[in-house]
Amino acid sequence: MKLKSIETITGTIRILTGLHVGGNKDNIEIGGMDQPIIKNPLNGEPYIPGSSIKGKMRSLIELGLFAKQDQTMEYLNRGEPCGCGKADCVVCRIFGSSSSKNRSDDLGPTRIIVRDAYLTDTFKKKFESGELPMEEKYENTINRINGTAKDPRQLERVPAGVEFELNISFKVFDNDPEKPEDLINYVFKGLRFIELDALGGHSSRGCGQVEFSKLKRTGSPLPEDFLKSLKI
Ligand SMILES: [Zn+2]
Repeated sequence: MKLKSIETITGTIRILTGLHVGGNKDNIEIGGMDQPIIKNPLNGEPYIPGSSIKGKMRSLIELGLFAKQDQTMEYLNRGEPCGCGKADCVVCRIFGSSSSKNRSDDLGPTRIIVRDAYLTDTFKKKFESGELPMEEKYENTINRINGTAKDPRQLERVPAGVEFELNISFKVFDNDPEKPEDLINYVFKGLRFIELDALGGHSSRGCGQVEFSKLKRTGSPLPEDFLKSLKI
């Protein structure tokens, strides 16, 4: 197995509805947010962990792919990621195998690296000058009988309109059974699935709708409607 090339996928992640990727509750002061978002501890800047993006791509690709493939349904039915470890499983090859005991010797290394996504330069400057406040959203439970709100809680979100840098690296090997084009397309499909689903928590209550734009594959710009034109 020989490394043939390393492709990069870069672009902008635009937040369309408030994004909540949960942070560490232990570090908040008294009177602070009930559900804070994750931030860089050095400067307080919000970011999207690569693991959040990678995990969401993987789970949505698994749902989409394995709906028709019985042999991998046992993992899905248990709510676990695919751990088949087979060399011909695109999910295990691209995202890594979660099970070491089943891992085929021919599987090779995990192909994808999704880096943590930081604010674009424009929004970084706004944040540094104090012009990018985080949203404090209040949520509550409605009493079914008298219609009153109870159990108010604060949810912190990155406000709609903010943009982060997307940065993915993807290894292509000479013995991959698919054409490099077909394999890397799973990454783009994963991004499209996220657009149709969401990033972060509380998505069923409206959080985390995002859009990927200004996409480039190894430095070459892709058409603006590229993701939307994919068949998934
Ligand atoms: Zn697998």
